[in-house]
Amino acid sequence: MNQHTLRQPCRFSGIGLHTGCEVTMHLLPAPAGSGIVFVRTDLGGVEIPALAAFVGSTQRSTCLAHEGAEVHTVEHLLSACAGFGIDNLRVQLDGPEVPILDGSAARYAAAFREAGVEEQNAPRREILLSEPFEFTAGESLIRFEPADRYSLEVEIDFHSQVIGLQRAAFTEDDDYSTQVAPCRTFCFLHEVEFLRKNNLIKGGSLDNALVIDEPRGYVNDTPLHFPNECARHKLLDLLGDLQLAGARLRARVTAVKPGHSVNNAALHALLIRLNV
Ligand SMILES: [Zn+2]
Repeated sequence: MNQHTLRQPCRFSGIGLHTGCEVTMHLLPAPAGSGIVFVRTDLGGVEIPALAAFVGSTQRSTCLAHEGAEVHTVEHLLSACAGFGIDNLRVQLDGPEVPILDGSAARYAAAFREAGVEEQNAPRREILLSEPFEFTAGESLIRFEPADRYSLEVEIDFHSQVIGLQRAAFTEDDDYSTQVAPCRTFCFLHEVEFLRKNNLIKGGSLDNALVIDEPRGYVNDTPLHFPNECARHKLLDLLGDLQLAGARLRARVTAVKPGHSVNNAALHALLIRLNV
């Protein structure tokens, strides 16, 4: 399998979920071998590679940091890149956070379909495992097993009467656009005040997140895209976080109670173990 990039540039603008900043983002085709690179045009063009080594904070989103510059909430865009097999991309932003859009990756998927994906004349880097690797943190577990195809299975359990125990699965042959991309981020109403006090979700609203009022139900009036939309969103996030490997994992990934901290810690530990 060769590397891919976008055929045409795409543009997005909107508010950042956590910073509340209005940001315009341009996605530009990039040469083979360059990887996905974020560029803060408002900070003199500081470049931040989308690689595990540049992960800064992982509190409720994945933030990349380099040379004093940050880009928050990279995971939904990176998830769409994983879903469409995009290896190389230049992501120019004029602010500190990727726009949250509707809280899913649906608009990326639609834009990528319209722009087209172009095959490049270089083989995709792959990460092969010779044996299983498991990472645990508290009640969370991420397990990587050798496999011919990349696949993910996710189980979530927030002890919530509304969400219940949910599972979701995805393989690289499934249709990312319809099965994963539309699934929105979510939070519990009782967390909102705490998150706001901790300087998070300044840009959060019912337009970009499912909000759960335990035990009554979802606050949003829009219907769910899937009964297990929450688990599918956690899978969306995991795909995005694991894209920071900078290569395609040839692995079957099983995740119990995934989240940005454990996803990134597990990937970091895996890359150290494999010495890549
Ligand atoms: Zn997310």
